[in-house]
Amino acid sequence: MDTAIITSMSAAPHADLHLHSTHSDGVLSPTDLVALVATRGVPMMALTDHDTVSGLDEARSACAAAGLRFAPGVEVSAGWRGQSIHVIGLGLRSDEPQLGGHLAGLRALRTERIREIGERLEKRGRLPGRELAAGVCATAAVPTRMHLARALVAAGAAADLDEVFKRLLGRGGPGHVPIDWPTLDSTVAALRGAGAQVVLAHPHRYRLSAGALRSLVDEFAAHGGHALEVGLGGIARHDLDRLATLVRRSRLAASTGSDFHDPALAWNSPGRFAKLPADLEPVAMRL
Ligand code: AMP
Ligand code: MN
Ligand code: MN
Ligand code: MN
Repeated sequence: MDTAIITSMSAAPHADLHLHSTHSDGVLSPTDLVALVATRGVPMMALTDHDTVSGLDEARSACAAAGLRFAPGVEVSAGWRGQSIHVIGLGLRSDEPQLGGHLAGLRALRTERIREIGERLEKRGRLPGRELAAGVCATAAVPTRMHLARALVAAGAAADLDEVFKRLLGRGGPGHVPIDWPTLDSTVAALRGAGAQVVLAHPHRYRLSAGALRSLVDEFAAHGGHALEVGLGGIARHDLDRLATLVRRSRLAASTGSDFHDPALAWNSPGRFAKLPADLEPVAMRL
């Protein structure tokens, strides 16, 4: 077994607090997702779709039927120093109007961005971008680049999702469209206003120097953020160590989750994520 990649089952509380459904860019309905999670020996889960809370009622009912503890969540897009970052809210009141307004604004930005990406793919990439983007916007409640990537693969524009993100949608690609997401400050405030525990998602995935990542974590904590996501599926040992050090330094709690989207992508299978170091406080204990 590769010891550099950690996917072991963690000790209690083994909570999968990062999962996607068809309400954003996952491929399983909340009901089917809960059924899969229930087979993985996970006592607790959160549904954290991108920029929407529309799947939470269905997930809550399915969890009650399956005997799983449920935390209502969301994964929100935000901007920091020109980068897109993701902030997760857990244990939130999903009917909070201010959060609802914040999320509606994000979805409007997403729709606009997918259309713009389609335009650019058409003009600069000589691909049927306009038609594919229109299809995504017509069918996806929260149109993401993941949806467009799947459509591009299906149309034969690239061999797989990885190639789409690298060659077409990534920086330097014909379909790269930066987006001016709301600030970290307003994002944390919207989630806190709904009573959420606020988690900085997958901090090791951002393209930031060690110093910039420390600044991001410092600002996140200063704005009232509660936890860093540390126990992720497939995280490398050195990244986990780095994040654990940041958690200790900033006296935040730590979160665990798979970031599951699709059974075809084995690396983020539900219920499989890294065990938290014993001295970190699991945010699940607060939910
Ligand atoms: P968006 O939120 O619209 O920017 O779309 C980003 C989503 O696409 C993420 O939430 C991931 O689910 C997925 N994604 C991002 N980068 C990659 C990648 N390199 N390969 C596969 N999926 C990716
Ligand atoms: Mn996603
Ligand atoms: Mn994310
Ligand atoms: Mn996610």
